[in-house]
Amino acid sequence: MRQLVILGASGSIGQSTLKVLRHNPGCWQVLALTAWRSLDAMLRDCLEFSPRFAVMVDESAARELASRLKAHGSQTQVLSGAKALCEMSAHPDAHSVMAAIVGAAGLAPTMAAVRAGKRILLANKEALVMSGAFFMEAVRDHGAELLPIDSEHNAIFQCLPEAIQRQPGFCDLAGAGISKILLTGSGGPFRYTDINDLAKVTPAQAVAHPNWSMGAKISVDSATMFNKGLEYIEARWLFNAAPEQIQVVVHPQSVIHSMVQYKDGSVLAQLGNPDMCTPIAHALAYPARIPSGVEPLDFFSVGEFSFIRPDVERYPCLALAMAACQEGQSATTALNAANEEAVAAFLAERIGFMDIARVNESALLTFGQHSADSLDDLIALDCAARARAQDLIKALSR
Ligand code: NDP
Ligand code: MG
Repeated sequence: MRQLVILGASGSIGQSTLKVLRHNPGCWQVLALTAWRSLDAMLRDCLEFSPRFAVMVDESAARELASRLKAHGSQTQVLSGAKALCEMSAHPDAHSVMAAIVGAAGLAPTMAAVRAGKRILLANKEALVMSGAFFMEAVRDHGAELLPIDSEHNAIFQCLPEAIQRQPGFCDLAGAGISKILLTGSGGPFRYTDINDLAKVTPAQAVAHPNWSMGAKISVDSATMFNKGLEYIEARWLFNAAPEQIQVVVHPQSVIHSMVQYKDGSVLAQLGNPDMCTPIAHALAYPARIPSGVEPLDFFSVGEFSFIRPDVERYPCLALAMAACQEGQSATTALNAANEEAVAAFLAERIGFMDIARVNESALLTFGQHSADSLDDLIALDCAARARAQDLIKALSR
């Protein structure tokens, strides 16, 4: 039986992964579940899935989990600290690693899985945006296998020829007859809100996505469409696509998860109900197909599809991310770092919704042209951009 490590098991993607495993008993053994500090979810899931290891990054949560598991007679060994995440990712018995930690915190454990040559089911787009070429080169050099979980990238992957699927990061899209990747996005909850009212949007309104159920950070990113910007950069690296080969298309129904346009005029699309269990099941079983538990798509209840050009005045964060992608690696690393700080400050009600773009723009102006020749340089740049973002957040929250 293949053994699976789930990084970020207590989160939205982690929980959907466990749901898919429930639909496929006997196919996977859970080697490790990890979380930061969500005790109750980890206790419940360790008792159900009996992983060999459980990691809580937070030490006191780890101690508490160990004592509660012991009281239940569980054999699961509890580890703590961020280093233990990397140990799990690189564990010799791990076949696949679900990379579903949110934000830059996911970079080190995802990289550890890459360097150990694992099959990586990549949900943590921020890790790829932060490290771009270094990440993809490590995938190639260590013989790792990268399968995208982000629904758009998973859809694009499914619409690509098999030869490209085997080494997507170094493919020649034009050579394979592909003219464009069409990256779809719903436009989030404020697609039709008066632009003048956006400054007053509350965190509760921003996290209420109309079609997808997700963690808080990505939900805010979807509302600003920064998420689509991250996905644009993610597609650039995953599919070796030049910025002009990627087009963002707003598709409010979230039924077409993305498309690939070929030079003969064909457009291949992947469709389905908006539920992350589909891409997770696809990546877990690739190239086989397994049940995901997702309801089959009923075209009669969908009724109509519509498509809209994205409005950069409404979504300045999307424009910033696309500009950063043109500028290069330092720009995308700094922008991602600033955005994480800005979204956390917005969720804590320290800054307004439209201030997120202000913080992000400042990072791009300050750090966009910095040089970064190694992963260590990028990590230092990430820290500097966070510090600068925090200064601006302080000023904005006065
Ligand atoms: P959630 O916020 O729901 O979950 C995040 C997970 O990461 C939790 O398990 C959390 O643990 C853990 N975590 C948070 N901070 C740390 C840390 N510092 N160290 C270790 N673990 C940490 O996020 P989502 O599941 O929504 O998203 C996960 C990733 O997948 C993101 O990168 C997102 O962009 C991407 N993604 C998500 C989609 C979705 O539908 N949700 C769709 C496409 C991509 P704890 O619970 O203890 O805090
Ligand atoms: Mg997505």
